[in-house]
Amino acid sequence: MRIELQTYSVSDSNSRGRAIAEPAAKSRSEFQRDRDRIVHCTAFRRLEYKTQVFVNHEGDLFRTRLTHSIEVAQIARSIARALGLNDDLAEAVSLAHDLGHTPFGHAGQDALNGCMQAHGGFEHNLQSLRIVDRLEERYGAFDGLNLMFETREGILKHCSPAKARELGAIGQRFIDGKRPSLEAQICNLADEIAYNNHDVDDGLRSGLITVEQLQEIDLFARHADEVDQLFPAIAPRRRISEVIRRIIDAQVTDILAESSRRIAAAAPVTLADVAVAPALIAFSAAMHEQNQELKRFLRANLYRHYQVLRMTNKAHRIIGELFAAFMADLRLLPPQYQALAAAEGDARAVADYVAGMTDRYAMKEYQRLFSVGQL
Ligand code: MG
Repeated sequence: MRIELQTYSVSDSNSRGRAIAEPAAKSRSEFQRDRDRIVHCTAFRRLEYKTQVFVNHEGDLFRTRLTHSIEVAQIARSIARALGLNDDLAEAVSLAHDLGHTPFGHAGQDALNGCMQAHGGFEHNLQSLRIVDRLEERYGAFDGLNLMFETREGILKHCSPAKARELGAIGQRFIDGKRPSLEAQICNLADEIAYNNHDVDDGLRSGLITVEQLQEIDLFARHADEVDQLFPAIAPRRRISEVIRRIIDAQVTDILAESSRRIAAAAPVTLADVAVAPALIAFSAAMHEQNQELKRFLRANLYRHYQVLRMTNKAHRIIGELFAAFMADLRLLPPQYQALAAAEGDARAVADYVAGMTDRYAMKEYQRLFSVGQL
């Protein structure tokens, strides 16, 4: 049974709609339709072969951008549904939020941003929007996916005022200092919950961090104690799963309580009220601090682990050299990107091409361009 949406949630009727008008969907809501368009797009399938923390080929069990995005969608949908908000929109934004990521995770984005300094920079968030607005070529009537305004707004998590001015209506809220929909706010926190928890899981699985180290972290230790009391003889892997599911549950439960309290205090009625209210979707102060502690731990012990940094270093080299080679001779680009360069500038087209690569495609392309004896 579908729960009635709150008046301050995004709905088909209060949405700002699509840039290009289309006939209404026959059997779906407009935001279901957005989700479905995202699932069918090329950039979505590429997420399977893009690094979250561990490069795709390092192990079959680690998260990729695809499984990360699905976990974000699961968490966001649960929170949205429980708060009477539009879970179809939360799901659509979650599935699209990382479409613009380069190969090799944040290392790839930093490298590409460095290459693009003289050409307007590169930011994965803006690139996600560029993919759904422009780069996907699937429909006869328009470039991109022609998504609903609020789906696009949710994808554009942050943006500098200078960029916002270039973007027009979708960037206006950054100039006006307004907040996005509650559904978009949910996706931001669901993203954090998903990656902190699955990075603990993948970090342990990889052996780069240990359970002993994590015992120092309150959020982990507290739930590990509970698991040990319930299941004294539990096997190590199951113990980790039981702890992580409890952390996710505790964080979601905390957001539901804190957000309900904030919504009750602000008493929004319309979407416009949400835009000018303080952040209404949030962790409690206590959970925020515990979450920060976990993030600091992961930064110090996992993201800066020497084995991860080796990959980071390699990613910088691969991305930097690919970018330079294409800029030096655009004729090395596939024809559709040469056409894009003519339309939108050389550097932007090269960045689009490099950003769209999967990890292994980037490595193959690197070999094809630079290895003697490689085709
Ligand atoms: Mg993410």
